[in-house]
Amino acid sequence: MQETPGTMTSACQTDPVKEKKKPQRSKGVQTKPREKTTGTPIERKLFQDTGSQCNIIPTPKKEAEGRDLVLGGDGRADSPGHCAKFGSYTMLELHANVVIDVQLVQSNECGGSYHMEKTGLERSLAHLERQGLAVGTMVTDRHRQIAKWLRETYPHIEHLYDIWHVAKGFSKKLLAASNERECQVLRPWIKSVSNHMYWCAVSTPFGQGAQIVAKWESVVSHVQNVHTGHGDLFPSCIHGRLEGRESHKKWLEPSSKAAVKLETLVCNKTLCKDILKLSGGSQTSAVEGFHSLLIQFAPKMYVFSYTGMLCRILIAALHFNENANRVQGVTKAGEAMYSIKYPKGRKGAAVLRRVLESPTYEYAQELLEEVVKECTDKENVEAEFAVEPVIVPPPLCAEFPHPEKSDFVKQHLSRFKR
Ligand SMILES: [Zn+2]
Repeated sequence: MQETPGTMTSACQTDPVKEKKKPQRSKGVQTKPREKTTGTPIERKLFQDTGSQCNIIPTPKKEAEGRDLVLGGDGRADSPGHCAKFGSYTMLELHANVVIDVQLVQSNECGGSYHMEKTGLERSLAHLERQGLAVGTMVTDRHRQIAKWLRETYPHIEHLYDIWHVAKGFSKKLLAASNERECQVLRPWIKSVSNHMYWCAVSTPFGQGAQIVAKWESVVSHVQNVHTGHGDLFPSCIHGRLEGRESHKKWLEPSSKAAVKLETLVCNKTLCKDILKLSGGSQTSAVEGFHSLLIQFAPKMYVFSYTGMLCRILIAALHFNENANRVQGVTKAGEAMYSIKYPKGRKGAAVLRRVLESPTYEYAQELLEEVVKECTDKENVEAEFAVEPVIVPPPLCAEFPHPEKSDFVKQHLSRFKR
């Protein structure tokens, strides 16, 4: 995103929460050039500095010294469904657990909602390059368009997949298969096979994708109570003698319909290619965590202006970075605090969660102090805050033909007379 000086518009002075869905007024005939806005003092503070939408987010140069960045990336749409107006792309440094860049994209900047994620990633990587940072690894979900683009544009970046996304997709397919006739016996195996996928990736040293696949495919024999002769890379299971509940599992009959179905799903070529690229280390759960937090700052049920949305994303990033590494809280008696949760995904099963210390909001105070400083700075006041504007894309309807109003009314009336 480029930033050039411009004049203030009223669009960014309203409280975005109160904005309602309203038709965009437009005067131009074709796509208008991006509007320049300097925004309110707090917005200007957020957009200050150089070349990025989010220079307020400190780039973790200190953490990045002497090593390449390990990034988790994912896109988020501003509304449910497939016709979102805004999409944002989050880049999180997984070792430091800090959001290092967030890019906001409006759908008409990139030819439709579908392309927003890729455009966000493109801008983010370009921004990091400008900052002189080297990206070593990127962990994402299995977005095909992103995978292809990364492979072709940044071949030196090691692109890996988050295990949860791959395991979730596979479990869904196995569940559907277990509903077929003579395949019900697969159902008790769904959780074990999904857990096996995690183990395959986590237990294998970095860069040995072929071994992850060998371990993964061994599950076909294991579920038939065969634990040796899996192949050269992973000859036999390492679980030792099975005892108790494990030894009484309902093994699959070799060549039965269920066993064949499982083998087809496990050895699927596309899946095995994805397994090859599973990340055994860092995962993108922190990115999902940031997106959950973002819902608090920019709920999907409200409509925001471009600058409103951008501010909210940036403030959410500041909040995340200040609070991401909170420690577990303790009671007055000095005991570690826990709470019981019932996540939807566990279908009623209780889960114990650590209760973290209360969040802090020092970033808000710092931001306000900066704003006061800027507003009282003599030079700024004299220059009417003519600093670092944000370039806002034209509204979506700017691309449509705009008829002359008087002609349009005439046309309407003549049709009415007939
Ligand atoms: Zn086994």
